[in-house]
Amino acid sequence: MSEPCGRTFDEALISGYVDGALVQGDAQRVQIHLEDCASCRALVDEITSVRKVTISSAFATPADHEWPAEAPRSTASRTARRLGWPVLAAWAILVAGVGLLEAWRDADDLLERLILVAGVSGLSLLFLSVLLDRLKASKSDRYQEVHK
Ligand SMILES: [Zn+2]
Repeated sequence: MSEPCGRTFDEALISGYVDGALVQGDAQRVQIHLEDCASCRALVDEITSVRKVTISSAFATPADHEWPAEAPRSTASRTARRLGWPVLAAWAILVAGVGLLEAWRDADDLLERLILVAGVSGLSLLFLSVLLDRLKASKSDRYQEVHK
């Protein structure tokens, strides 16, 4: 899409920029263009104000059908949920670490220790993959939500 102002990216990138949903490279690309382009800066202002209205009206009247079943219902619960995962991850790592140390001390032979290490690493990898999916999902959730 060619724009009168000469920007080489789609408007969607600008709204992604407003939402903070871009990867660093794209965000920089938009940022650099915005520094030179008053009309796109105006567009950013426009999108920002539309977002504010959308978000505040969504919170004022959170009709049930507007929310996916498991979406958190407020900024607070969303923040709590986002914080919850890293905290849970830290807790799980701590528990696994302590458990491993204890079991390691009690283990009689090398085989038992190997089984322990294998089990704990397997669990950690599984947990990590769930966590990464979760983080990715919460990012795209947010992006879609703000887009309404
Ligand atoms: Zn422009």
